[in-house]
Amino acid sequence: MRRFRAGVASAVVAMVVLAVLATVTAVWAQKTFAVGTASAAPGQKATGYIEVPAGVDQGTNIPVVVVNGVKPGPVLALVTGAHGTEYVSIIAVEKLIGELDPAELSGTVVLLPLVNVASFEQKVPHVNPVDGKSMNRFYPGKADGTQTERASLAITKEVVDRCDYLIDYHGGDLDESLRPYAYWGPTGRAEQDRISKEMVLAFGLDHIIIWRERPTDPTATRYLDNTAAVRGKASIVVEAGYAGTVEAEDVSLLVNGTLSTMRALKMIPGAPHVIENPVWLERIVDVSSDVEGIFYPLVKRGTYVQAGMKLGYVTDFFGKTILEPRAPVAGVVLHLDAVPSLKKGDNIANIGVVAAQPAN
Ligand SMILES: [Zn+2]
Repeated sequence: MRRFRAGVASAVVAMVVLAVLATVTAVWAQKTFAVGTASAAPGQKATGYIEVPAGVDQGTNIPVVVVNGVKPGPVLALVTGAHGTEYVSIIAVEKLIGELDPAELSGTVVLLPLVNVASFEQKVPHVNPVDGKSMNRFYPGKADGTQTERASLAITKEVVDRCDYLIDYHGGDLDESLRPYAYWGPTGRAEQDRISKEMVLAFGLDHIIIWRERPTDPTATRYLDNTAAVRGKASIVVEAGYAGTVEAEDVSLLVNGTLSTMRALKMIPGAPHVIENPVWLERIVDVSSDVEGIFYPLVKRGTYVQAGMKLGYVTDFFGKTILEPRAPVAGVVLHLDAVPSLKKGDNIANIGVVAAQPAN
């Protein structure tokens, strides 16, 4: 009898110890998450800045939002505005700041709604006007570089290194008429590629570029999503919007795509809306101008073209046709020059070549 009671007592003690351990572990696992000056306890949403100190040129502050869920889970990074006039991609993440509810969230979402503040404020497309560099070409960044490189290093350390998954948002810039599409960059690591493919299908954009030939050196990854991918984090790029417009339909593609991806990652409740029949593209072919002049398009964003088909014509400033750019390959016009201004070397169109076989 005594032995029996002793057995019950020790079982009760063991259960209490296990329960306390489980609680301590859960509380520990759901601790405060801070990025830059934004620090959110579980169940909170916090705003702040990643401070990029002055160096060879001026410093900058990159806005950051941390949404810390009440339940444990992965860390998802949503990064946009590297190109500060790709407005749809910025407005979509602004909307997500309001929509994400920490009370419903498992895990943590880190949102960078505007990486390139100077581009946005000064309405300068493609580059950071402070140093003339694209803010999606200098990852992982460097401490003694110009502002773009220092900002890239801060994002690599504060966001990329600390997330599990990453989505990078872009779109047609002020001079680009773009149809929506996504990039999926397989790495050869089966589990990571399975998750990133699940993410891109759940996001739901109907044209997906399979981006195979990317830098694999972690010190020269160039692009943000590739920086994440090389560091073992499943990542995708999504693009919508064009030529300075903010169409509700384009914003919805990015907002709803993000929420669907978060459902696939089990960070919010509900089933993802997975695209069943995307068009997979195996490469992109650039068409650029070797003259300066005035561009007149003959195709639109999303037009399917044959090899040799005329994309438009370019005249000199006296109305004489001096160039008839043609599609070098058959495919879909992913984006097209949206404005008449054309200087030597400018992009006229990007054509996506349809893959021989679907990737899904
Ligand atoms: Zn961009």
